[in-house]
Amino acid sequence: MVHTIVGANWGDEGKGKITDLLAVNADIVVRFQGGANAGHTIINEYGRFALHLLPSGICNPEVLNVLGPGVAFDIEAFLKELDEVRAMGVPEPQIAISERAQVLMPYHILLDVYEEERLGKQSFGSTRSGIAPFYGDKYQKIGLQVCQLYYPDVLREKLAHALEIKNALITSLYHKEPIDLEEMITKLHELAERIRPYVADTDEILLNAVREDKNILLEGQLGTLRDPDHGIYPMVTSSSPLAGYAPVGAGVPVWSIKEITAVTKAYSSCVGAGPFTTELFGDEAEELRRRGGDHGEYGAKTGRPRRVGWFDAVATRYGCEGQGATEVALTNLDVLSYLDEIPVCVAYDWKGTRIERFPVTPKLEECTPIYEILLGWKTDIRGITKYEDLPENCRNYVEYLEKQIGCPIRLVSNGPRREEMIYR
Ligand code: GDP
Repeated sequence: MVHTIVGANWGDEGKGKITDLLAVNADIVVRFQGGANAGHTIINEYGRFALHLLPSGICNPEVLNVLGPGVAFDIEAFLKELDEVRAMGVPEPQIAISERAQVLMPYHILLDVYEEERLGKQSFGSTRSGIAPFYGDKYQKIGLQVCQLYYPDVLREKLAHALEIKNALITSLYHKEPIDLEEMITKLHELAERIRPYVADTDEILLNAVREDKNILLEGQLGTLRDPDHGIYPMVTSSSPLAGYAPVGAGVPVWSIKEITAVTKAYSSCVGAGPFTTELFGDEAEELRRRGGDHGEYGAKTGRPRRVGWFDAVATRYGCEGQGATEVALTNLDVLSYLDEIPVCVAYDWKGTRIERFPVTPKLEECTPIYEILLGWKTDIRGITKYEDLPENCRNYVEYLEKQIGCPIRLVSNGPRREEMIYR
């Protein structure tokens, strides 16, 4: 059975924790898009991890962790993260890297950094991991697949062609030093040898696993609202974080996906630029930010303070629909325990008109939230393991959100640790 875990919002919904939890019963965990630009926080018996590129099954030696063809594969980031995981005492993990995945080059990172610098205030809030230049090259067909690293003539020819274009940009637009072809080739040869044991035909591995009815988890990064087609374009990421893309980016048949879990927080949080209708500011924001997540709402990749706000049912309903969610996992419910009253955004006001459908970006910029106020529960709910044992107002909150989203909330997370989970 193939199970996909994806974000319903702007990312950072707590997918890492849900995947880590479900990975206990999984045979294979697959990353299908994105690269080292986001971060999943996982807290288990080995400690606290901020995973960027490695799949969330990495702590379980029984699980095969796959980086699918849709991933932006940054070899140095991968090796560094693997070393960090080993240093935490995690047993040697099983890893397979798709031979069709493309390599995120050091010049993609440089171009990302230079472009954000050039844009200054108009920047997209990129994590400067090279993701946009990488996917640009992939679709411009000047990217390099992992398999091509092992064909020296192909590598040289492809790289020379790409560098001609990149160096023109680097020197004339950004006025920086050009990249040296020979140095780049030497470096890539070295890196290619280091990853050689992991490179595989992951499409075949996964197809066989599907035929044998193995448990496969496909792990998305970011969320619906960062999808290039359905999100808040252009403040989006460069690959699709949707469950609909998962079979493509992972390499499994579409029909094999049986469950799609959309993860959402009990409030909203967002890293990076773009319209964020329920955003809070000042003391109210500071308090929620400080109490949120496992150590405050700060980006797992960048350490940037996350923007925070009340639960946005308009955005989340749209987010779950876009994912084709079969169920919802609601995380960080414990964070709201300090509040007397909890606003929930149920619709937007657009120039005096009430709208319930998540609009296109320019219209979204003109919307303000319409709130319903729910009563808080004012008691610590961490440690509770049965849904019936949650305070009544807390259950009312969950059930109210469920009605608003229109999809069953089957998992309720009341703490950052793996075991802090209530099943409904
Ligand atoms: P991801 O990218 O979707 O995996 O999300 P992140 O890991 O970036 O952000 C989620 C944050 O919430 C992390 O700090 C998690 O440790 C934390 N977290 C996840 N579930 C819960 C929960 O139920 N309660 C609390 N307090 N923190 C949680």
